[in-house]
Amino acid sequence: MEECIFCKIAAGQMADYKIYEDEAIIAFLDVMPVLPGHILVVPKAHVENLEAASPELLAKLMAVIQKLAPTLHSALGAFGFNLAQNNGAVAGQVVNHLHFHLIPRHEAKELALWPGKSYAPGEAEAITEKLKQALS
Ligand code: 5GP
Ligand code: ZN
Repeated sequence: MEECIFCKIAAGQMADYKIYEDEAIIAFLDVMPVLPGHILVVPKAHVENLEAASPELLAKLMAVIQKLAPTLHSALGAFGFNLAQNNGAVAGQVVNHLHFHLIPRHEAKELALWPGKSYAPGEAEAITEKLKQALS
């Protein structure tokens, strides 16, 4: 995966703002932060997206996220954080190497999140049924 930017960062072949590293995971500052302190938590092995990752790898990623989260408060004075994962191009995934965005938050108005909408009558029931059938 020579062309993959996150593989290069994981291999230490590119300058980055590394915060954390273990045998499986690396975390570094996003070069174009949504807000200052925006961290990317990334598996070192090339995995394209969440569906391609093993449950064990996801557990390791979540454990690192949980380890980093308190530092957003203690080091940066954040009061909360957003955890995001863009999965697929239509969802905004630009780098096709699985990563979680950990974004420290200081106040609600600094970032507008997605708006909620109402379902049309019967729509939620139909979608629920489709999803349940796909799972069975
Ligand atoms: P995506 O849209 O795929 O979920 O997010 C990719 C993120 O990677 C973007 O927020 C972008 O700013 C960040 N990014 C892209 N290239 C680099 C890079 O070379 N170094 C770092 N640190 N972040 C990068
Ligand atoms: Zn990669």
